[in-house]
Amino acid sequence: MQKKALTKEKIKVVLKNLHDLYAGAESELDFNSPFQLLIATILAAQCTDKRVNQVTSKLFKAYDSPEDFLKLTEEELGNWIHSCGFYRSKSKNILATCRILVDRYNGEVPEEREQLMELPGVGRKTANVVISNVFDKDAIAVDTHVFRVSNRLGLANADDVLKTEEQLMKNIPQNLWSEAHHWLIYHGRRVCKARKPLCGKCLLSNECLYYRENNKV
Ligand code: SF4
Repeated sequence: MQKKALTKEKIKVVLKNLHDLYAGAESELDFNSPFQLLIATILAAQCTDKRVNQVTSKLFKAYDSPEDFLKLTEEELGNWIHSCGFYRSKSKNILATCRILVDRYNGEVPEEREQLMELPGVGRKTANVVISNVFDKDAIAVDTHVFRVSNRLGLANADDVLKTEEQLMKNIPQNLWSEAHHWLIYHGRRVCKARKPLCGKCLLSNECLYYRENNKV
């Protein structure tokens, strides 16, 4: 990992380029309500959005609220979500989360990060995804793509997700946090791939610290 971070000027250039490339980027999970996004994001852990969308397109037609989900046993829900991986723990967490939503929040999804993080299976990243995508709060959810791309570029220089989030919040203007989160995910999925980043095709290589270090620019 590089030892430096980008200068303020270079951060501005990177953000402008990301905006030009991915303006309008949004969640690639399909959802129609805060509840659907919450469940889809729990399912997306260690799974692709494409697979989650395949599962939820059928699941949400049959069960679309915490009350609906509580009609299922862990095993029954496990059968629905089997292909998303870790289905036993996800099923258990989702049903426990639905129980809390019904008992404590009248079946609604709470809007505060701290409340969301008390739900089983919901960590800071998932809470940030929910509050930024459906409650219009500024937040940067650091998933594997955001972590990798931002640390390669030099938007952050950190070895864990929490420090990465803190540094991104300092380096990116607050009104861009939620959008920038999507830009970084799009770039990570399409260009700055985990194993073999497509640096030769990347329009950010002039600024990218990883590229400069590995190509002795
Ligand atoms: S130059 Fe390479 S490492 Fe840097 S952001 Fe682009 S693809 Fe990723």
